Amino acid sequence: MDLKNDLSRRRFVGGLSAAIGALGLGPTSELLARTPLRITPRLLDEIQQQQAQDYDSIARLNNNENCWGPPEAVVQAMTGALKYANRYGYPDPGLNAALLELHGIKKENLLFGSGSGEILDVVGATFLGTDKKVLSVEPTYGSVYSYATSIKSDAIKVPLLPDFNQDIPGLIKAAHRHYREIGFIYLCNPNNPTAKIVSSKDVKTLLDGIPEDVPVLIDEAYHHFVEDPSYSTSIPYVLEGRQVIVARTFSKIAALAGMRLGYAVAPPELITAMQNHSTGTLNVLARYAGAAALKDKAGEANIRQKTVALRKKAIAELEGMGYPVIPSDANFFMVSIKREVRPVIDEFRKKLIAVGRPFPPMNQYLRVSVGTEAEMQRFSKAFKEIFANPPASASAGAKGG
Ligand code: PLP
Repeated sequence: MDLKNDLSRRRFVGGLSAAIGALGLGPTSELLARTPLRITPRLLDEIQQQQAQDYDSIARLNNNENCWGPPEAVVQAMTGALKYANRYGYPDPGLNAALLELHGIKKENLLFGSGSGEILDVVGATFLGTDKKVLSVEPTYGSVYSYATSIKSDAIKVPLLPDFNQDIPGLIKAAHRHYREIGFIYLCNPNNPTAKIVSSKDVKTLLDGIPEDVPVLIDEAYHHFVEDPSYSTSIPYVLEGRQVIVARTFSKIAALAGMRLGYAVAPPELITAMQNHSTGTLNVLARYAGAAALKDKAGEANIRQKTVALRKKAIAELEGMGYPVIPSDANFFMVSIKREVRPVIDEFRKKLIAVGRPFPPMNQYLRVSVGTEAEMQRFSKAFKEIFANPPASASAGAKGG
């Protein structure tokens, strides 16, 4: 036996397997067991096909996506727009006009992004720097924090309150204490990962309480799922001329995450400043898809109704088993699992169910995105199986006392 070759093969295959695992592409072990030393184009093709099969077999309850996909009217609009793929110019599907009408804004108030993720980065590029930090809560959607780190800026993080609400007085206090250091405040409403809203009264308290020249980025990615009557959009503050930027996305209610379509609504001077950091370019399919999605009110209502019904069902079941869930106004929820979340995520993964990552310091909470009825049944079955046993560390370390 050629020990040296065998070892390097195992190392190589192990590395490949780890890389595939890190990509979230699922089990390919059978195929890898047959992997020779050299990856031929044919083998690569086989691996990719296997990955595609694994991809489809996983219940993706980890990214707060819309599991149903875009409605028929939107798919048709995209299909019809394919014929313009070779053009820079094409007939206007009316996306801009529809958004201006929907929000009662002017074109100077609108900036598109490749998903609202780009808008969040653009706000970071515009208002942060080595001497300007982002102020927000912990945990929240971490994208603004990652961006700050990437440009050697920093963050001031205020912990959530014990009831998981965002600490508005805490944010106001920090905004005054660190006034000169703050580039912008980030308010995710509803918050990700907790799915809790900030009421319109509390948003007003925040905006009235902070120095008036500090920009506030209000991320309304999950706006369409909110049922709580104390919530409302913050777009009217933009119309008042306050230093407010509202970020919206077509990734959630409109099921267009893969098309990358989001936008900002803000006063003209903030939009102008942000334009310097954005391409502002959308592709033709995204533009047609967005316009069709805005028209399809019935499709939107259908997604909302299904999502909320399945979320309520899952929450009732978990609470019935003794696992409290944080009240949710989004297409996901957070359940208190009373044990460390990382090994639980790994257990779900073995059962081909992807659930949310850890959100420190909430390390005993699991974030679950709402999936189809069949996916939620798989989640429920897996949850019962995993929680029928004590946590791995508890049994391993059970030394009495
Ligand atoms: N904001 C929040 C709160 C999110 O949860 C996400 C994605 O999950 C985004 C923004 C980014 O969404 P996208 O870039 O797809 O619009």
